[in-house]
Amino acid sequence: DRERRWELVVHPIWGRGLLVRLADRTGTHAAEKMRVDFVANASHELRTPLATLLGFIETLEDGKAAENPATRGRFLKIMFGEAKRMQRLVDDLMSLSRIEAEKYSVPQTPVALAPLIEDVRGAFHNGIVENGDRVVVDIAADVPPISGDKVQISQLLHNLIGNALKYGRPGSPVRVTVKPASGNMVKLCVRDEGEGIPAEHIPRLTERFYRVDPGRSRSLGGTGLGLAIVKHIVERHRGRLEIRSEVGRGTLVSVFLPAAIAPQMGALSSKSHA
Ligand code: ADP
Repeated sequence: DRERRWELVVHPIWGRGLLVRLADRTGTHAAEKMRVDFVANASHELRTPLATLLGFIETLEDGKAAENPATRGRFLKIMFGEAKRMQRLVDDLMSLSRIEAEKYSVPQTPVALAPLIEDVRGAFHNGIVENGDRVVVDIAADVPPISGDKVQISQLLHNLIGNALKYGRPGSPVRVTVKPASGNMVKLCVRDEGEGIPAEHIPRLTERFYRVDPGRSRSLGGTGLGLAIVKHIVERHRGRLEIRSEVGRGTLVSVFLPAAIAPQMGALSSKSHA
């Protein structure tokens, strides 16, 4: 879909006639199309739960359904679920635009990953997904803190661990490892034993609203923005993201983030960590 776009640009030159130039507008056109698609997708994602909510409100207003406590309870539960879906979507949209707005300021606070991983693991015990205890953490003793934005790194961990729990086989472990990597980086890996991702989808996973199976993602409470947010956070930190997967076996997401403190001469070279 990278069709080339050309535009004729005419410059009048005083007393000398016209200069006609052929300009390549492929890039601007693609960016504009992406923006239009994004707004259309976001509106569509919000419109569906909104329509469901309005439908249930109308039915409840009718009277009969509201008088029956069991029906009313069931309706309210569905309405709550739809409102929650809208809330998750709006939260993710806001995060995305905030991260994008800050993309030129590189965050530089030292952040230790271990307590953040513990917090995120704890959050999955609080009713969202009842299986945070599937998360097995292994942090190398000599790993330095990373240089970054604590709130955004928490969000990155939440999205990656959340995906591994959602798409991992029920009850299977989710392994989170952190170790030093070459080039004064820290390597964070999140590995699941799940359904995996067919190779042709992998390059597109970080696009907004791109999902391998939209129905399945929605039923698991996904917004389709999780990995787009992760990609933006990694870019803002001047890091790198790698996704590897094998269908039927599982997925490995690796994130390389800059270490906060330059290691002492020789501290890293004595062991090969990469
Ligand atoms: P979602 O909210 O749909 O989970 P994401 O942006 O986090 O959105 O992920 C995009 C898509 O990538 C998901 O819908 C899913 O198809 C796929 N995906 C992400 N992580 C995994 C994983 N660990 N295992 C299998 N598929 C995954």
